[in-house]
Amino acid sequence: MVDSSPGASPEAPRRSARLVLIGPPGAGKGTLAENLCSFSFDHISSGDIFRGHVRNQTPLGQRLGKSLANGQLVSDELTLETMKKWFWSRKPSQGFLLDGFPRTLSQAQAFDEWLESRSIKLDAVIHLHLQEEAVVKRIAYRRVCPKDGRVYHLLYNPPAREGICDDCGTELIQRPDDREPVIRERLRIYRQKTEPVLTYYREQGLLLTIHSEGHAADLAKTVEQKLQPFFAIR
Ligand code: AMP
Repeated sequence: MVDSSPGASPEAPRRSARLVLIGPPGAGKGTLAENLCSFSFDHISSGDIFRGHVRNQTPLGQRLGKSLANGQLVSDELTLETMKKWFWSRKPSQGFLLDGFPRTLSQAQAFDEWLESRSIKLDAVIHLHLQEEAVVKRIAYRRVCPKDGRVYHLLYNPPAREGICDDCGTELIQRPDDREPVIRERLRIYRQKTEPVLTYYREQGLLLTIHSEGHAADLAKTVEQKLQPFFAIR
């Protein structure tokens, strides 16, 4: 038996899982990834990978700066090139939770081809649903550390000292793409480009939709319970 409660002891056996996490910005994807304790996986955020390139001013980062700050999607070509490197650098047996990828139908179709070529199957696709106005409200309170990328929420997860990162003492900032006009644009793009991906996975019987209002620990518990049948039939 797997202990499916969040906060399960580190000794409890964890089931290796291959999951995709889809939801609008601010739906709580990163927090959910941290709280899913009964599964073992690497949490891979395509947004974090891209932000890392921008921060470190790599050649890719220099090409990406503007699209990230304006809330536009990075082209499918660059995204697939970047994510392909991640995919082929890992062992097929390793679990993963992909956060932010795939985000367009062509990305989802390409990803399916990669999986098939290594005989890997996804276990489930978790879709976090949140009303748009709730998204805007949540993101207005988000602050990040520009040095180490740690994310805070001024109401629910504030730093110990106002405006300062707990880990490295750097002054926190609001991400340029967390400003309200940019958020509205990101939501428009989400509806246009990412909602078709939900239909794609629904048709494959992989989609688990969860409403993400409420407390993070309760959300993780609900997701862990609702994921069980996806593993039972595979
Ligand atoms: P996120 O942190 O997931 O909201 O991603 C931040 C930004 O990174 C997005 O607004 C896009 O500019 C870019 N990005 C992340 N993942 C993808 C993707 N799969 N396809 C295209 N652009 C992406």
